[in-house]
Amino acid sequence: MATHTESSLQQLRESALEHLWVYLREPSDMAEKGEPNVFVSGKGVHVTNAEGETFIDGMSGLWLKNVGYGRTEIADAAYEQMLKLTYMPMGTTTEPTIRLADLSRSFFTSGGSESNETAMKLTRAYFKRVGEPTRTKFISRKGSYHGATFGTLALGGSPIFPKGDYEPLMPGAFHVPQPNPYRCEFGGQTPEECAERCINSIEDLIKFQGPDTVAAVVAEPVSSPQGAVVPGPNYWPMLRELCDRYGMLLIADEVITGFGRTGKMFACEHWGITPDIMTVAKGITSGYIPMGDAITRKSIADAFIGSPRAAFRHVITFGGHPVAAAASLRNIQIMEEEGLIENSARQGAYLLDGLKELKEKHKIIGDVRGLGLFCGLELVQDRETKEYFPAEADLANRLTQAFTENGLLLRGGDNMNVAPPLCVTSGEIDEIVSTMDRVFAQASKELGAE
Ligand code: PMP
Repeated sequence: MATHTESSLQQLRESALEHLWVYLREPSDMAEKGEPNVFVSGKGVHVTNAEGETFIDGMSGLWLKNVGYGRTEIADAAYEQMLKLTYMPMGTTTEPTIRLADLSRSFFTSGGSESNETAMKLTRAYFKRVGEPTRTKFISRKGSYHGATFGTLALGGSPIFPKGDYEPLMPGAFHVPQPNPYRCEFGGQTPEECAERCINSIEDLIKFQGPDTVAAVVAEPVSSPQGAVVPGPNYWPMLRELCDRYGMLLIADEVITGFGRTGKMFACEHWGITPDIMTVAKGITSGYIPMGDAITRKSIADAFIGSPRAAFRHVITFGGHPVAAAASLRNIQIMEEEGLIENSARQGAYLLDGLKELKEKHKIIGDVRGLGLFCGLELVQDRETKEYFPAEADLANRLTQAFTENGLLLRGGDNMNVAPPLCVTSGEIDEIVSTMDRVFAQASKELGAE
């Protein structure tokens, strides 16, 4: 049912166009399309807009609505904590914050960028504490995303977020190829071969830069900007070994992959490796309230213990907020009670099968891949050359609009992600896949690519 009259909604839209930066959108484009789409409620995998139209959210908001929308249990936990205590005196903490910090040592933040920024500062400070002050450089991968702040912007390597506007960037960030088996920069023929060549290229860079100048490698276990790139199974074990061999820290950015997204609590578990610092956000509260964490291994965190001068001097005002911590604890409890991580593995495999069937039917789909409910596609105009569609094809807009018209929220483009909430059922996955089928059939026809 519509929650607004046509004129009150029109007023709201005009106000948004006038006063709001809607992420990644330009006002005149939105105005032309009668946007922004204004959402008012959600339940499970569904969201409803002010016109009363309901959609399946195929992206879990932004890879974060892990337990789904409309969980009153989380609202209740936050409410109860709000009645008790909503902040703490300087230099103290609260019970929910302590209870949430049950892995090594946690530095809580308000989101993913701050968690990665914290990890970078912690890394540089760590090497100063242990007498290796020349270790300041970071290695990350082309095609990756690690956040919007200046430090994390320098780590990111995705052309989707061009950096030119913001230069000069933080110095000391170097980029190596993404281990994308579908487009291996080194021509690796298998995922394993691609992974090995990518790891070798990191070693070459370390040697070129000077091993005693490199502080850490930062990487997402499964990378989103190119569409859920899953590296060969040898990549992470080799990366762990390389970091150990050269005395560098390994920072796993689990901002998307953490809290069940890939079918394990944390994606690093797939390969049996432990990073030195793991950053998380998004799914830690299923996006009910902002929260992030940079979780540091004991052996690293211990460098900041021993005297007041050894302390880590870094503060994020809202990090570890007791209300966010209470919401996180309830969110994690729901995941455990309802077996949502297992559901992510099971339904993720089912979704991937569905996407593979779509690839059989539509030749514009060059590749599908995924781990748990973190799936991705690459769309190409030619499967042989793997060439993307030209800008004139307006693929991203064309598809996004068609998905929306068909009741599915998904961002179209050369590289696509499909990542519904972890509570999704197989019936809902059937709906997602059949909608994608219809949209791809129509788009292929329009683009003359049947
Ligand atoms: N790392 C990764 C892998 C991400 O996907 C994101 C956000 N999409 C971030 C970091 C930054 O998180 P935030 O937007 O919460 O700052």
